[in-house]
Amino acid sequence: MDCLFCKIAAGEIPSTEIYSDDKVYAFKDIDPQAPFHAIIIPRNHISGADKIDSSNSSDISAVFEAVAKIAADQNLDKGFRVVNNCGEDGGQTVGHIHFHLLARRNLAWPPG
Ligand code: 5GP
Ligand code: ZN
Repeated sequence: MDCLFCKIAAGEIPSTEIYSDDKVYAFKDIDPQAPFHAIIIPRNHISGADKIDSSNSSDISAVFEAVAKIAADQNLDKGFRVVNNCGEDGGQTVGHIHFHLLARRNLAWPPG
């Protein structure tokens, strides 16, 4: 499958690893929007949040377990934001579900 994030998870395209386990891979965003900006993906290809169902939701649980581990490892004690963009209006530009973990600055709310 011609998927950028599947290739990154497989190590076929280089990335800067932040966290890895058998279900999840996390790496530095190439265009960071905060001093700490990780992209967290399930290794299993899911195209977007609109395709989560009972057959793949354990991959999403694993992503959120990784969020907590990364936050602890990186000492994100002041907090952080997890963002998923889905579809055209959501601003999704890569068709493999991914979660942005943003931290180390005060993040505006609402995001606009
Ligand atoms: P989206 O806009 O789909 O929610 O987020 C895609 C994110 O992937 C963007 O923040 C973008 O900077 C990041 N990205 C796109 N291509 C690459 C890449 O080749 N390497 C890395 N590390 N990040 C990428
Ligand atoms: Zn993929």
